[in-house]
Amino acid sequence: MDVHTKEQRSKNMAAIKSGNTKPEIIVRKLLFSLGYRYKLNNKDLPGKPDIKLSRYKTVIFVHGCFWHQHKDCKYAVMPKTNREFWENKLGGNVKRDAENKDKLLKMGWKVLIIWECQLKDLNKLADLLKTNLK
Ligand SMILES: [Zn+2]
Repeated sequence: MDVHTKEQRSKNMAAIKSGNTKPEIIVRKLLFSLGYRYKLNNKDLPGKPDIKLSRYKTVIFVHGCFWHQHKDCKYAVMPKTNREFWENKLGGNVKRDAENKDKLLKMGWKVLIIWECQLKDLNKLADLLKTNLK
């Protein structure tokens, strides 16, 4: 699937990462550069996944580590002030995520969660995507 040479790929990676790009866009560009084609705006599916790859019966969510409370991640620290508010708010997000994932799995979709902190190493992320999408 990966038709690019190593040099080409690192050039692509640099281009993808430059600027103040939203995490979903970075993942989309990376998928595209790896040769995957996908659909956006999947409002018909639980949780409205960011990316849908019908050919692989896979949906992808790109999650912010804080808002979706990435387990054991240094970016997912619960604020010390207004503790109750944040626990309700973030706990609600986590619960909803789990429910949506469950629904999607029952519908026969494979669910891939990409965390924002994983965007720091796009080569590693590219390998992860290729392992999960074949
Ligand atoms: Zn994280």
